[in-house]
Amino acid sequence: MSVRTRFAPSPTGFLHIGGARTALYNWLYARHHGGVFVLRVEDTDAARHNEEGLAKILDGLAWLGLQWDEGPGAGGDCGPYYQSQRREIYDRYLEKLREADHVYEDDGAIRFRVPDREITVHDRVCGDVTVNLHQQGSKRWDAEQKREVAANPDLVIRRPDGSYIFHFVNVVDDIEMRISHVIRGEDHLSNTPKHLALFEALGAEAPIYAHIPLNLNQDGSKMSKRDQGALIHEYVEDGFLPEAVNNYMALLGWSSKDDQEIFTGAELVERFDIDGINRANSKFDYEKCLWVNAEHLKRLAPDVLAKAAAPFFEKAGLDPGDPRLGAALGLVRERAQRLSEMPGLVKPAFVEEIDYDPDAVAKVAGREGIGEVLQALAEGLRRVDDWCEDQIKSAIHDAADTLGQKMGAFMLPCRVATMGSTSGPDLVPMMVMMGKDRVVKRVDEFAQRVAS
Ligand code: GLU
Repeated sequence: MSVRTRFAPSPTGFLHIGGARTALYNWLYARHHGGVFVLRVEDTDAARHNEEGLAKILDGLAWLGLQWDEGPGAGGDCGPYYQSQRREIYDRYLEKLREADHVYEDDGAIRFRVPDREITVHDRVCGDVTVNLHQQGSKRWDAEQKREVAANPDLVIRRPDGSYIFHFVNVVDDIEMRISHVIRGEDHLSNTPKHLALFEALGAEAPIYAHIPLNLNQDGSKMSKRDQGALIHEYVEDGFLPEAVNNYMALLGWSSKDDQEIFTGAELVERFDIDGINRANSKFDYEKCLWVNAEHLKRLAPDVLAKAAAPFFEKAGLDPGDPRLGAALGLVRERAQRLSEMPGLVKPAFVEEIDYDPDAVAKVAGREGIGEVLQALAEGLRRVDDWCEDQIKSAIHDAADTLGQKMGAFMLPCRVATMGSTSGPDLVPMMVMMGKDRVVKRVDEFAQRVAS
């Protein structure tokens, strides 16, 4: 069977991590099996139709690299790929149901007769789920009477205003687009028996279903768009790498048999299969996501890292064309978890004026004999003629020696004086990058500040 999967978002205005994960699994499955990944826009609900809402979703998918083979902008022989443009197709399918007496009119709406027998979904993740739609729908809860009352179990597939409902168009499109596998959120599992009944009534073979577990917050609540890590465009802005976000999303509901956790995109394509999808709901863990990103950052080739980091340097007001950028990234790539953290870490080497952390200043200024320490440091550094790591280190060492102290005792004052804080990347390489004049000037000025 040739594999054809699809991602079928409604244009809701953002790409949620749950939706992106569904897209990823469908994309991976199609790529793994040499199949086709289709993007279909489920925009029949006029109130939700919104171009901008779709743009964010398409941008998010493009950023993640989940390129669709058929769909908006990509063409394909099953178009149009917007449900809002497929009305004639739905009318045609409705006609088929009418001819076979599967539907009838009810107060302007059109209802599909659901069969009065058990229907079993053979789900590849959740196992078998069996229901009788007729019995299930024959009662409904009446909130006013506070009791169950008789209901019409037949499914409305077209509203009195002529618009089609989700279940019908979803099935028609899966038939028309020759979808072989439907991988979607478990929240749709209860819809699937209705979909199977429709496939059968239309004389079409149903696709294989795999409902993936929900992605919840740590406390088990549903992830809303306000929760940290919920929206894909925030990952873009926060300096995540798309391959790391894909890697983390893959782990949210799937695992490799050998518990490997860091995967390249190609490895995911090679390893991903429906068998590895977990049954249990997953819990979103932002810390873990940061860790996965940091692991990917460490593995990037220097030129690729420079290219990815450049926009973040620019945004922070630092010149991404600075010849020291490569060295700066080399210093912080093991320390930063996101690209957006990198400019801040190396900023003292790139700017004239730095901000001094008051706590760091207080910590150093309160030390006994700090005036002499800073003076000796400035003098020693001023005498360095070849501004390289070795010479800087020996200058600090010698300066400490003249006061009968260990080099270690000089490092913190030197760090605070030149970088403004007590932590950050390795000090001596940072000093090389700052350049001699800037370093000496900062130590001099800091000495005055501490003395006053
Ligand atoms: N438009 C539906 C959703 O966003 C798609 C359901 C499906 O994948 O079948 O939930």
